[in-house]
Amino acid sequence: TLHRAHNFNAGPSALPLSVLEKAQAELLDFRGTGMSVMELSHRSAAYDAVHNEAIALLKELMGIPDGYEVLFLQGGASLQFSMIPMNFLQQGQKAAYVMTGSWSEKALKEAKILGVGEAYEAASTKEENYRRIPSIDELKYQPSDAYIHLTSNNTIFGTEWKEYPNTGDVPLIGDMSSDILSTPVDVSKFSMIYAGAQKNLGPSGVTVAIIRKDLLEKANNNIPTMLRYETHAKNNSLYNTPPTFGIYMLGQVLSWVKESGGVEAITKQNVEKANLIYDVIDQSGGFYIGHAESGSRSLMNITFRVKGEELEKQFLVEAKQEGFIGVNGHRSVGGCRASAYNAVPYESCLAFSDFMKKFMAQHG
Ligand code: PMP
Repeated sequence: TLHRAHNFNAGPSALPLSVLEKAQAELLDFRGTGMSVMELSHRSAAYDAVHNEAIALLKELMGIPDGYEVLFLQGGASLQFSMIPMNFLQQGQKAAYVMTGSWSEKALKEAKILGVGEAYEAASTKEENYRRIPSIDELKYQPSDAYIHLTSNNTIFGTEWKEYPNTGDVPLIGDMSSDILSTPVDVSKFSMIYAGAQKNLGPSGVTVAIIRKDLLEKANNNIPTMLRYETHAKNNSLYNTPPTFGIYMLGQVLSWVKESGGVEAITKQNVEKANLIYDVIDQSGGFYIGHAESGSRSLMNITFRVKGEELEKQFLVEAKQEGFIGVNGHRSVGGCRASAYNAVPYESCLAFSDFMKKFMAQHG
C-alpha cells in the first residue's frame, strides 16, 4: 500500500494526494498532446489554457476584483522583497514596514539596501520575541508613504493577522506566502498581495503577485526589464519562459480547493486541524508552551516548546520515529513547529495531537 508521510514541513510542504495522482496520470500525455506539460512550448495553445485557467481560478477563489493583475513570477517571495521597493519606492518617499518576524525583517532589509527613498518600521513586536501581531492602532505611518508592508502569517514565529487595517490612500502590500488561500481575505484592502507557491499553492518555483493597476501605473521604469512588474503584466506573465510545470501544478491545487468547497470550507477544516494541536497545548498545564499569544495564533504554523530542553529533544526524536516529518522549529529559533497547511490532512493533525498527548502522559 501507498505510504504517505504525516508531512508538517514548513515549505515546500504537503500537496493534496489527488493532485499528485492527477499529475501522475497526465504526465506522459497531457490532454492528448502526446507530451507532458513540461515538454509543451510555453507559446502553445495547450499551455496557454493551463496558464489562463490558473489565473482565472485564483481570481475566482480569492474573489479578486476587477482592476488587479495576477502575475506568475520567479525568484520566490524573497525576490519580491527587492522588487517591491525597486518598483514602488521613489527618491524622497518613505515606505512603512510592520515588523512581525524574520520575513518582515528580510523585506525591510532589502528596501534599505536599495537606498532609494527611506524604509522605516511602522510597528514592531520584536521586543516581545514576535509573540503577537501589533494592533491596528499601534501602526504608525504617514499618508504620504509610498506603501505599507506587512507579513500576513509569520511562518517562523507562528503568528497571523486576524484583521487588516484600512490604509486609505496608502497602498497596503501583504506577503501572504504562508497563509494565502487558507482563510478568506478582502483583497480590495490591498494594493498588492504576493506569495511563494510552495506552502498553500503548489510546488516551489512560482511566485504569485496580485497587483492593483493603479499601483502598477505609479511604478518606476528605470529598472531592469525582468524586475519591472509592468513587463510581466503587459505580457500576461509570458514575457519570458514561465515555470510551466509549477503553474500547471498550481492550477491543479486551485481546482482541488474549489472541489473541496472553496476557501471558506478549507478555513473550517484549518480551524479544526489547528485546534486539535492548540487544545493539547492549552490543556497540558505548562508541559507544552505555545509561542504565540492566543489572539495572534497562526492557523498554519503552530509553534511551541516542550518543558525542559532534554525533554524537547526527546520529543523531536520520538516525533520523527513515529513518522511526523518537519516538526522541528526553524533553525533560527528552535523549539517545535507543526505546519498544518491547506493540504495537510485532518488525520495527520489528529495523529499528531494524539502523539503529543501520549508523550505527555509518558513524561509529564
Ligand atoms: N515570506 C514568508 C512569510 C515565508 O514564509 C517565506 C519562506 N518560508 C518567504 C517569504 C521566502 O520565500 P521564498 O523562499 O519563496 O523566497
